[in-house]
Amino acid sequence: MLEKIRHWRDQRIAARRAIAEPLWRYALQHCAPAQRLGPADQARLRVLVTLFLERKSIEPAAGLVLSDADRVLLATHACVPILALGLDWYAGWRSVIVYPEAFVPRRTQVDAAGVEHVSHHALAGEAWLRGPVILSLADVHQTGQVPGHNVVIHEMAHKLDMRNGEANGFPPLPRRMDPHVWSQVFASAWHGLHEDQRLGLDLPLDPYALESPGEFFAVASEAYFETPQALHATLPAVYQQLAQFYAI
Ligand SMILES: [Zn+2]
Repeated sequence: MLEKIRHWRDQRIAARRAIAEPLWRYALQHCAPAQRLGPADQARLRVLVTLFLERKSIEPAAGLVLSDADRVLLATHACVPILALGLDWYAGWRSVIVYPEAFVPRRTQVDAAGVEHVSHHALAGEAWLRGPVILSLADVHQTGQVPGHNVVIHEMAHKLDMRNGEANGFPPLPRRMDPHVWSQVFASAWHGLHEDQRLGLDLPLDPYALESPGEFFAVASEAYFETPQALHATLPAVYQQLAQFYAI
């Protein structure tokens, strides 16, 4: 019953706040994975994007003025990974903070010797455990310019991964999937990539994937949605696991 009521409420929101046609066309033009979907999936995505914009708070920072077109575009990228999983996979956090360009988080880390280090790395995106997602709009606009890259999908993959704690490349899996197979496939691909790197070979993924198993999952997810054929050709077992997980 609860499910039904929510469904009915969602339908009302989707109807009342439907995304204007020109904004939706702009989003599809700039989000290749959404553009590739069939008409029925695109219609479902449009409803999901409407609900995402209703439930999440997209907050411009550092003087950025965010247009409606960019809000819809951000939400469209963000909803591609959960088209089959559903919006509940993004429960437990609310804010998407958007900087105009790559941002430098103010963060101090104390190392084993007790020395404080201040981080100076500029980031295109960041996802906090139970906290906000932070994105650079310039990097969102560069999506697709480097094949396989999509900063929004990268950070959202971390969010899915964090459903069961720190981002470690092991999100909660739908019941239809075997966790042992997932671990085996990702561990074996991880070792293979490290071996390729050691031998100086070209990697099929952005080398950033080798930072940690959590980054591997996020980078592989970007490739799954942006350049699926290339991922399928180079890491077929990883592709199969992601196809089962995302189910689109
Ligand atoms: Zn990451």
